[in-house]
Amino acid sequence: MPFPLSITQKFYIPEDFVKTHEIDLYSAVSLVFGELERNHATDLIRKGTDLRFRSEKSLFAIPFDSNIKFQNDEFGIFLTVESQTLPFIRIILAVIVFSALLSLYSVISFIIFAPIFIFLFYTVNVIVIQNNNEKFFAHLFGVANFDFDSSEATERRQKEWLKDVNRCPACGTFVSTIDYYCPECGLKVKQNISSMPLNITKYQNRIVKYIYTKK
Ligand SMILES: [Zn+2]
Repeated sequence: MPFPLSITQKFYIPEDFVKTHEIDLYSAVSLVFGELERNHATDLIRKGTDLRFRSEKSLFAIPFDSNIKFQNDEFGIFLTVESQTLPFIRIILAVIVFSALLSLYSVISFIIFAPIFIFLFYTVNVIVIQNNNEKFFAHLFGVANFDFDSSEATERRQKEWLKDVNRCPACGTFVSTIDYYCPECGLKVKQNISSMPLNITKYQNRIVKYIYTKK
């Protein structure tokens, strides 16, 4: 399949926000529900900790459906937003068929036009939707630059990984006792045992942030 039929984004509710507003899973759902109502989302449905709605916050205000799942894990409350891209794919198909009919005598221009149109139209809509979702939740949870998953949550996660000798502290991949390097990111995970003075239980409150690049 050349295009995914939906785009998924995961957002952790910032720890500060959870503490100051005493947010739990259910009040988080209510909070987002109210904010969606104020932002003119239509067909808004709540089922337990799931929300469904339709919005027009895309390029050319083409309506599309989304659903939000609210969940808890050891790092806090997070929501997974899934936005359906089917309406955009339908428009792409319609435009392609229409332009194919128009360009019966100019196959070359069609061959050039079609992929450019598909790429631009799809990509731009995905970017617009992702940015709008990010802005929406950043505004709601009172953070300026919303980078939930890569900063705060990663730090918390890495702190957990550090306590577990079977996990790579940088990326969380399980490493076996025979591994000297993490099979996923290549970080050196095992030292010569005698030269390893680190007592992990001593540094429970320390945040260690590894910045790594894939090989
Ligand atoms: Zn790793």
